Amino acid sequence: MSTSKNTLLRELPNVHESLQFLSASEQLADIPLKRLKFCTRFYLDRLRQTLLTGKGAIGTPSTKKQILDELTVFIRRYHQPHFKQVINGTGIIIHTNLGRSLLPVSVLDTLVSLNKGYCNLELDLETGKRGSRYQHVESILCELTGAEASLVVNNNAAAVFLVLNTLAKDKEVIVSRGQLVEIGGSFRIPDIMDRSGAKLIEVGTTNRTHYHDYQQAITSETGLLLRVHCSNYRIIGFTSDVSAKELAQLGTTHGISVMEDLGSGCFVDLSQYGLTKEPLVQEVVASGIDIVTFSGDKLLGGPQAGIIVGKKTLIDRIKKNPLNRMLRIDKFTLAALESILRLYLDETHALKEIPTLAMITAPEEAVRSRAVHFIETYVTQMQDHCQLDLLPTFSQVGGGAVPEQNLPSWAVAVRPIKLRTSQLEQRLRQTTVPVLARIEAEQLLIDMRTVADEEMPALAAGLHSALVLDSQ
Ligand SMILES: *Cc1c(COP(=O)(O)O)cnc(C)c1O
Repeated sequence: MSTSKNTLLRELPNVHESLQFLSASEQLADIPLKRLKFCTRFYLDRLRQTLLTGKGAIGTPSTKKQILDELTVFIRRYHQPHFKQVINGTGIIIHTNLGRSLLPVSVLDTLVSLNKGYCNLELDLETGKRGSRYQHVESILCELTGAEASLVVNNNAAAVFLVLNTLAKDKEVIVSRGQLVEIGGSFRIPDIMDRSGAKLIEVGTTNRTHYHDYQQAITSETGLLLRVHCSNYRIIGFTSDVSAKELAQLGTTHGISVMEDLGSGCFVDLSQYGLTKEPLVQEVVASGIDIVTFSGDKLLGGPQAGIIVGKKTLIDRIKKNPLNRMLRIDKFTLAALESILRLYLDETHALKEIPTLAMITAPEEAVRSRAVHFIETYVTQMQDHCQLDLLPTFSQVGGGAVPEQNLPSWAVAVRPIKLRTSQLEQRLRQTTVPVLARIEAEQLLIDMRTVADEEMPALAAGLHSALVLDSQ
């Protein structure tokens, strides 16, 4: 071992010494002693390891004072909440890594007021007897979708699992080969099917599945016909599939239930805004499909939830499945869900107030103005550190909805002067309000479709602090 390493090891303060220094630090005055101790042990152990092995993540300070200063910075950072607000400059509207859909302010207000005190979660206020938590959204879901009954669970993956387990355990489920999808985060239809106790029967080919393929696969063991909406990819070219209506008819003829996993689940026809038509929940219900499942936080624009709508006799069986208790929706989500669903009673209201829908339907010109406004407001403040330009780009809906659709949009393009673009991208992720952006042709692009007006000052502050070298 080199002498400098030995010297450094001798320089390492002990925990007692460190705590004396840290307790006197004004920067750390708000941090409980217990946490200071924990962080100090953690930091000193890691530093010792680094010195001994010559490997490790922490750089090597060389004097006791430097070590204590770096420890202070480490603790300050460590004490920040881990889960925080970020600015989405990616232009991907339903971004699963960034929390998918944003809730409207009116919904957040309801969430707070409803959860400040006790609530009638499972109480029937008329009879004073025990009620069901599902009642708060059951009739509005029926009203909006035309279904006979509904049930909500933790998320759509849970919804699919619960339906399969209730209606097709130890039975066969017929699915088209073109619909055996994987939806990120290890949700694969064949695996879910297996765990639910249902047996997968694949029919057709990847690009073409016909009515008679389903027909021929039906046996006395068939429990369910399943359609899965291919939300995150498209098979194009020489293709053929069986419509919801045809499959529903086939099911009726044979007395077999038919389910569709719709994935995104949308109530508003977005083709009026130039988007590819996604099937609407109410259309799938009207086509005669017995059970439809979809997410609460994709195109619906609400909280994470799995929504099941369909025939009452089937929904009643699904409700009674003991697994339902494990997948049940919590009171915060229910409050947000009812509040979001109420906005859909008036479609213009929904389009204006629900951020996911508002961002999707925002005219290109409005996004452009926001980008121009940002540049004009902050160009002087930034000019020593970067060049800011207006650049046309494309946003995406995300969340596995309308995957091939590009929405024309506008970005603020940043060319840093003193940093590499990749450094800027990394530093932006570490500012007080982190900013997520993408790099294209050596420029950092901040797509203004997914940045709200209220976020502009925080965006500017983040950009400025990331650009100024000694600020982090
Ligand atoms: C997204 C999706 C799911 C999973 O829904 P979560 O709400 O994320 O659990 C299931 N099926 C399809 C077709 C999907 O698009």
